[in-house]
Amino acid sequence: MGNLKIHPLLREIANIFIASGKEVYLVGGAVRDLLLGREAVDWDIATNARPEEVIGLFRKVIPTGIKHGTVTIRYKGRSVEVTTFRTESGYSDGRRPDRVRYAATIEEDLSRRDFTMNAAAIKLPEGSLTDPFGGRDDIKRRLIRCVGNPAERFAEDGLRPLRALRFASQLGFDLDEATHMAIRGALPTTAKVASERIRDEIDKIIASPNPVRGFRLMEETELLHLLLPELAACRNVDQKGYHRFDVLDHSFLACGYAAEKGFSREVRMAALFHDIGKPAVRRPGENGIWTFYNHERESGKLAFEIMDRFRYPNAVIEKVLRLIKEHMFHYEDNWTDAAVRRFIIRAGEELIPELMQLRLADTAGTTGTAPDPAALLPFTKRIEKVLAQNRALSLKGLAVNGRDLLAAGVAPGRHVGIILNELLEAVVEDPELNNREKLLEIAGNINKRYL
Ligand code: ATP
Ligand code: MG
Repeated sequence: MGNLKIHPLLREIANIFIASGKEVYLVGGAVRDLLLGREAVDWDIATNARPEEVIGLFRKVIPTGIKHGTVTIRYKGRSVEVTTFRTESGYSDGRRPDRVRYAATIEEDLSRRDFTMNAAAIKLPEGSLTDPFGGRDDIKRRLIRCVGNPAERFAEDGLRPLRALRFASQLGFDLDEATHMAIRGALPTTAKVASERIRDEIDKIIASPNPVRGFRLMEETELLHLLLPELAACRNVDQKGYHRFDVLDHSFLACGYAAEKGFSREVRMAALFHDIGKPAVRRPGENGIWTFYNHERESGKLAFEIMDRFRYPNAVIEKVLRLIKEHMFHYEDNWTDAAVRRFIIRAGEELIPELMQLRLADTAGTTGTAPDPAALLPFTKRIEKVLAQNRALSLKGLAVNGRDLLAAGVAPGRHVGIILNELLEAVVEDPELNNREKLLEIAGNINKRYL
């Protein structure tokens, strides 16, 4: 095979290393991308130059991971991660290497890497391949295979099994059989991995083009039972009378549709978790058909526990929970404008597009086929119409504010807010009430309750 095509800027950077007698290689995902015939986006470089030497070679270097031998070069608008050749030894806690030791050769550095497809290097600047573990062939066969003995490699770092599934989701690759088989035995090691590291991989699965591939592999290997037992419990919870899928397949299908359509991470997560409360609330109903009353509340509770456990940012948690809580909306043409306004207020105007996307995903998961988005048109048109009326849908839209209430004799304190919210309710019901005079009169009446 001839040399691979190297970006001119990368060659320029490499030549700075070469000029001071150092070796430099492109490694990791960038090599994988080039071997797949794609353009490499993130540039990771390995070198025998020590971090301090790299800092001496370039004007702008950020010490991003100096403990692990990594610095980031800023060069003509690009960032390049540079890591000194390393070997790793001893992961006694299954979390992170006990110590980092520098290695002398690229081969040694490659041998500590997780999968063959991630353990090939391209020598810079010329672009020749160093591939001691057959990474190129595995990429051609679309196989994820551990470097060396899978059980040993997983025992060193319990995150690796999940990384394998993440790559399967991102790349559409299969797992080599021995690698697949070794995951189960490594579950106790994976159980010790820091939850943030797990979350980052789960996040990448969710954001990938094919999250369901990763989740099905998680189920097969029992990573699902370890990491997301609430979801694993949805297997064989049948929904006869509603549709033909059990709750787990339904959730997978919904999430898969959301990914296929490029919906946001929050919609994908809500699609995955929206029915997760069903096993807990299921009760025998008539004719052998289960009932699932109030499952959205239980789903929200469990989804919170999961996202909290993995330390998701609060903004993500809040949005996913709101989507789950509101996912059962059921619009009919005979809703009054006030009912539509109440819906908008409860869901939050900005959340409505994603709530509609969640509904489409939910439908896809029920029928197993692509839903017709036009089914939602009557409701979305109605919402637009009600929004266009420009009526008060939040405290900001009220004709009076807290200061007005104080001026009118309401005593300062908690019930100023309570009164404002009651006024909003009244105005949502009857927009004609939204004028200063009327509202102050109503406020006066409410206030009597607090005197
Ligand atoms: P991408 O950046 O596209 O997600 P990547 O392969 O570059 O994919 P990174 O997580 O950035 O993945 O890791 C860079 C490289 O470091 C990997 O290709 C692999 O060689 C090595 N690596 C990362 N994490 C591990 C690990 N837990 N065990 C062994 N090697 C690892
Ligand atoms: Mg990378």
